[in-house]
Amino acid sequence: MKVLKFGGSSVGSIQNIIQLKNILSTQTESYILVVSALRGITDFLVGLAQEALANKYASTLESIKDKHHHIINGLFKPLAQPNAFIAIQEQLNELEKICEGIATLQECSPKIEARLLGFGEKLSSLILHQYLEQEGLAIKYLDSTKCIVANHDFLNAEVNFKESTSNILKHVNKDCNYIAPGFIAKNQHEELVVLGRGGSDYSAAIYAAAIQSTCVELWSDVDGMLNANPNHVPAAKSLSTLSYKEAFEMAYFGAKVLYPPTVRPLMLHNIPLYLKNTQNPAALGTAIGVKQVDEQDSIKGVSSISNIALITISGVGMAQTKGMARRVFEAIEHADVNVILITQACSEQSICLGIDNGDIKKAKASLENAFKHELELLLINPIEVNTDNVIIAVIGDNMQSHIGLSGQLFSALGANNINVVAIAQGASERNISIVLNAKDENKALNILHETFFELAVKKVHLFINGYGNVGKEFISILFKQKPILLAENKIDLRITGIANSNKYLFNNVNGLEHKEIEKLATEGTPYTQLSDFQNKAISLNLRNSLFIDNTASDLVSNTYLNYLNNSISVIGCNKIASSSATENYLLLQKTAKTKNCNWLYETAVGAALPI
Ligand code: ASP
Ligand code: MG
Repeated sequence: MKVLKFGGSSVGSIQNIIQLKNILSTQTESYILVVSALRGITDFLVGLAQEALANKYASTLESIKDKHHHIINGLFKPLAQPNAFIAIQEQLNELEKICEGIATLQECSPKIEARLLGFGEKLSSLILHQYLEQEGLAIKYLDSTKCIVANHDFLNAEVNFKESTSNILKHVNKDCNYIAPGFIAKNQHEELVVLGRGGSDYSAAIYAAAIQSTCVELWSDVDGMLNANPNHVPAAKSLSTLSYKEAFEMAYFGAKVLYPPTVRPLMLHNIPLYLKNTQNPAALGTAIGVKQVDEQDSIKGVSSISNIALITISGVGMAQTKGMARRVFEAIEHADVNVILITQACSEQSICLGIDNGDIKKAKASLENAFKHELELLLINPIEVNTDNVIIAVIGDNMQSHIGLSGQLFSALGANNINVVAIAQGASERNISIVLNAKDENKALNILHETFFELAVKKVHLFINGYGNVGKEFISILFKQKPILLAENKIDLRITGIANSNKYLFNNVNGLEHKEIEKLATEGTPYTQLSDFQNKAISLNLRNSLFIDNTASDLVSNTYLNYLNNSISVIGCNKIASSSATENYLLLQKTAKTKNCNWLYETAVGAALPI
């Protein structure tokens, strides 16, 4: 027997539900099908709680009804529709009553909110059950609130595996097929609780662990887990295999395809987990917990968590004083703040914690209160807060057996002018986490992706000033050389920005085409001063950037210093800067050196004799 879970996107449209039915029809063993709410419904329900408090819930409630009615109209044969409508109407009436209650009492406790959120999965599972029966599948309804027991927090309930397993085994006959709503469970007082946002994945793992299923398949609308977030890294690729621990790390770091708690029960029982795409069922997707003999990759993925603030507690009173770390963490716990990252150097002069930007106020106040005495005696410095950072993590089980990875990592960042604010690496060596300024998130993810996964080709971004005789010739040579450089030197030169004396063009996604550049004079964007071009080039903050001066203008050579200061190398075809005041020349040379970039030039003196 196996467990299949279909997420919101896979039950979000009529077409996808038909696809789900087709996938079920090809199953060769019995199964438990776990379903999420229809796409977007849980978000609506979260909003509904707030709107009910303000007594403005009617239109959202209406949209929720409409979405379900639309699905029923599209899926059911006319004669079967009334039954489906009746089945969900009961639920919708109850939902409305709860909204009225919230509006009247002006209160929505977590207990009530959990009940509200649970309607998404109740509705979707009822509709799907009837639909699958209509289509001739033998499938029984399995009520998750009778099977899964979870206590404490109503919205993030803690699963009692022992009780859940015994309930599930009572309700499940391994020769039958079942459909069960994900996300919902009951607590020891028989009240409805939910398992945290994204919790349907977890429901699938709980069922799987209880029945010792052969595998779990999580069906969504992407080809498994990618090695980086495609919104940041267009070159991200899907991963074919991951260990459970790698999957957990990747899931934790924002790879939204998997709810992190899902991994643990499966790992404990050695149940393979497959991430599959409903739109592309033939694709292998990602296999988790399935040993691959030829598994060599030391790094599996790069990921990030944004909105990070660093809070530093430092001072002479920290060193060699026992109990300091305990007091720091107690104060943070007291403020109900979650610690995301911790670093302490062995001088013991400071402890640095990464927390969510939104938690700064609470955390700082609580630390100031806890260390009031030491702060007064100046044994501890004022608490430092550094906001708007991002944690970038490089993840992979095999990192431990590789020497030189962190060297590669830091030199790639350094060569691109990225400042590392803090570092944490656990002794498991499965995750190296580095804290950077938020503005560098995109750049860093791409550099690391390129360094570890695309070593073959290096993208170089060119920013060019000048499109006269020299400039035009340069561009046409460059486009002739481009394929050769790519094939022989593995360098992908892109013209990301170009300007003449009054217009510019940019394309930071694929680089500009020759034809586009030829239209610079007519179709370029007018700018007021050269610094507009420069500011744009710098603010794009792209890795491997070069500025090229194809003019004979001191206005342009005056912009070199700012490029170099931003670690953008400069190449010039004139001698203006090199023959300017000695201090200026020396300053440019020194800046290039300290900023880890180049200032290169070639020019002719003495009646065009190259010297
Ligand atoms: N419907 C719930 C949510 O959106 C649970 C899930 O889909 O996994 O969080
Ligand atoms: Mg999900």
